[in-house]
Amino acid sequence: MNKQSNPHAQETLEQALEDIELDKQLKRIRNTLVVLSGKGGVGKSTTAANLALSIALAGYKVGLLDVDFHGPSIPKLMGFENKPVENDGEKILPLQFGENLKVMSLGLLLQSNDDAVIWRGPMKMGAIKQLLSSTAWGDLDYLIIDSPPGTGDEPLSVVQLLKQPTGAVIVTQPQDISLSDVRRSIAFCRKVNLPVLGLVENMSGFICPHCGESSDIFKSGGGEKLAEDLKVTFLGKIPLDPQIVTASDAGEPFVYFYSKTRTAETFAKIVENVLHITEDKKKENEKPDQADNSTKPSAQSSLRYAVPVAADQLCMHFGHCEKFAVIDYDSDEKKIISSEHKTPPPHEPGILPQWLAEQGINIVLAGGMGNRAKRLFEEKGIRVVTGCPADAPGDLVLQYEAGTLETGDNLCDH
Ligand code: ADP
Repeated sequence: MNKQSNPHAQETLEQALEDIELDKQLKRIRNTLVVLSGKGGVGKSTTAANLALSIALAGYKVGLLDVDFHGPSIPKLMGFENKPVENDGEKILPLQFGENLKVMSLGLLLQSNDDAVIWRGPMKMGAIKQLLSSTAWGDLDYLIIDSPPGTGDEPLSVVQLLKQPTGAVIVTQPQDISLSDVRRSIAFCRKVNLPVLGLVENMSGFICPHCGESSDIFKSGGGEKLAEDLKVTFLGKIPLDPQIVTASDAGEPFVYFYSKTRTAETFAKIVENVLHITEDKKKENEKPDQADNSTKPSAQSSLRYAVPVAADQLCMHFGHCEKFAVIDYDSDEKKIISSEHKTPPPHEPGILPQWLAEQGINIVLAGGMGNRAKRLFEEKGIRVVTGCPADAPGDLVLQYEAGTLETGDNLCDH
């Protein structure tokens, strides 16, 4: 029968082409991590977003895909709400956060539609497949997937489509009720042959917004104990921190905008564990003659800092400072290897991120900066630390590297 007159044949052909596309795409991704939880509201999306961003900030090429039909929250968490999605005629272009992170979400495609979408099973599978295969992910070291919660058909579709995901990161809260869901999640992973990379205990202990002290007003440690019982790796605990809610509501990804907080440190620890496990797993799986480290970033031993200065001290008026101290720090030798003052071009909006990127700057230490400006820097792959005191620029770099730099509020000078 003529194909054009047979809609089923046409559909089968389209599906076959999509499968080929999906295979091609998956071959370009070194690690796929599925973030799972037994139920909604435990912080799965928060963990997925911050995990993806932290790995990207560590220099890896990362994709973050949100296929949580129950409320795709990644666009909000990443500050991408209402951002239009474009395509190049062939593929959907993911939104870029900084140089290394590509983001795609069901929510980005649905946001113009005010009507609730009623998804039926096959439509869900189709949507997940399309987002995987039709997004221009390119070569990735990690694809982090914010999966629908639970252990039903939706996470099952994710796992089946990914064919051989590297592993699952399971997020739980410490209370018993959540822990019973985790048992089910782990049983699910075992049933579908998805390796469990480890367990994250979220909202574990409370960080007081006033004194910054942690207290266990809620239960803590249940996830850790369960991980031990079920013989899965415990990746770490994230405290219940009101700043996470503030950041999420403001569309400011936590580990980027609150990088110097104790809670951000807990994310860093989890990411360190995840990288450790996945990179070790990869080494085990790769025969020596197949080893390809070309996409792994080389450890960067030298970092270039910029500090706005006046009279050789950090100047609070970022946009109007006379000069920038440009300082090279050698992370192996743990010392400053060069320092010079450079004069920025005359003030005009948006010029400093461009100019500092041209100077090869990796990190800016500033007193204050508006969030819009901060975002322009992050789009250039430059990390911004705000709330730095008015000290000598070299001292600030050394303190930052030693982890002793005390930052205060972001006193934005607009
Ligand atoms: P899920 O994806 O599991 O449904 P979310 O990541 O969307 O959960 O988080 C649910 C809510 O809990 C959000 O408002 C989020 O800001 C908040 N939240 C998540 N983790 C924490 C935490 N560690 N401390 C405080 N609030 C948190």
